[in-house]
Amino acid sequence: MRNICVIGTGYVGLVSGAGMADFGNSVICTDIDRKKIEMLQAGEIPIFEPGLKELVDRNVNASRLTFSADVESSIRDAEVIFIAVGTPMGENGEADLKAVEAVAKTIAKNLNGYKIICTKSTVPVGTGARLEALIEQEKESEFEFDVVSNPEFLREGSAVKDFLIPDRVVLGVSTERASDIMKAVYRSLYINETPMVVTNVPTAETIKYASNAFLAVKISFINEMANLADKVGADVHTIARAMGLDGRISSKFLHPGPGYGGSCFPKDTEALVFTGAQHGVNFQVVKAAIEANKSQRNVILAKAKELVPDLKGKTVAILGLAFKANTDDVRDTPALEIIQGLEAAGASVKAYDPIAAENMKKFFLPNLDTRDSVLETVRDADLVIILTPWNELRGLGLKDLKEHLNAPNIVDARNILSVEQLKEFGYNYRNVGRSNI
Ligand code: NAD
Repeated sequence: MRNICVIGTGYVGLVSGAGMADFGNSVICTDIDRKKIEMLQAGEIPIFEPGLKELVDRNVNASRLTFSADVESSIRDAEVIFIAVGTPMGENGEADLKAVEAVAKTIAKNLNGYKIICTKSTVPVGTGARLEALIEQEKESEFEFDVVSNPEFLREGSAVKDFLIPDRVVLGVSTERASDIMKAVYRSLYINETPMVVTNVPTAETIKYASNAFLAVKISFINEMANLADKVGADVHTIARAMGLDGRISSKFLHPGPGYGGSCFPKDTEALVFTGAQHGVNFQVVKAAIEANKSQRNVILAKAKELVPDLKGKTVAILGLAFKANTDDVRDTPALEIIQGLEAAGASVKAYDPIAAENMKKFFLPNLDTRDSVLETVRDADLVIILTPWNELRGLGLKDLKEHLNAPNIVDARNILSVEQLKEFGYNYRNVGRSNI
């Protein structure tokens, strides 16, 4: 059991803080956002993440997990400090490390004993060394510290399970002391024989970008394959399934759609390209994946225009705003550019999402016309576009739906509807890589 402080109580900080408490550690989660901390202290969860409330409640009730808006005292009370603040995209694609560095300075000023400072935020290679120099320069005491890299691989929507039962834990350490303490933090995973990759800090930092960039490449690859399938009458799902049966390829991340989004892949691929350029490495494959991803939004818009060539004055119903199902996160969601493209073509947009509508209005489109149900959204629409594969949308009653529409046009950008049913009920449809089967 270790005394831990997690700074930054967002998607990663809250899930990993609660998860590490579940492993038996004593954890304080802190954040500069007082409102968030007040909500958590009142037993409310500020984000939508399946199973998170139960995990938090269980550990709060067992007195292993607390929340504090006092970042400084939380640091002083802990031996292991996890930095889990945001690292958004900077102006030139680089990771913006302002929040990480601000936190490192606060830690330096509050070093009241030996501490481990561990980056859980996704940070470019070299950040650990940078933080070490910064803390050494800013600290006002003689206490020692170690900087560790422990990148996080959880996925929004299944974050609790991913954290509690991970495929692997990566620890970048430079001393045995730090290595022993980090293994103690993850002791319950260690005894479950979860693979632990213990390596140096630059390797751990690079593993995270390598993993995300590879997955982004896989998505862009299958999207381009889907675009070919559309032209030649092939079925991309059968292609993906057959590819995935090859153990060297695996079936994961071979789902075509409107392109990847969210708070990780877009910024992490750009940041990797930026880091490569700094070191004279041209990441041609990753650059191509980024370009293909940007084009994929236009592929969906082109499909909309195939069904409704002149969108001016037409009503389009958007079903799904979150970048993926089971999250309220709309950062870099494909829905944003697609809605903007439709509006630029003169369409008026109505939208529905079971969870993410509020965030879309709050962060990006304050005037978006959002509705509370699918049927209210599609009423009198000339075109429906499905952008998020929510379970609720997978089960759409297509017969009933058609009666509410002005014209039976559907772009299923997630391939969640049955092609047989779309044909049976007389829809004009497009999907991704199966439109001509
Ligand atoms: P987030 O925006 O949900 O949370 C970040 C939190 O940090 C916010 O609550 C914010 O108020 C807080 N914060 C910012 N500056 C602070 C400061 N100076 N002091 C204290 N708190 C501060 O972000 P997130 O999605 O949890 O991502 C955090 C990091 O984890 C990023 O580097 C991201 O790339 C990485 N990551 C994210 C995911 C994911 O699925 N979201 C997965 C793996 C890794």
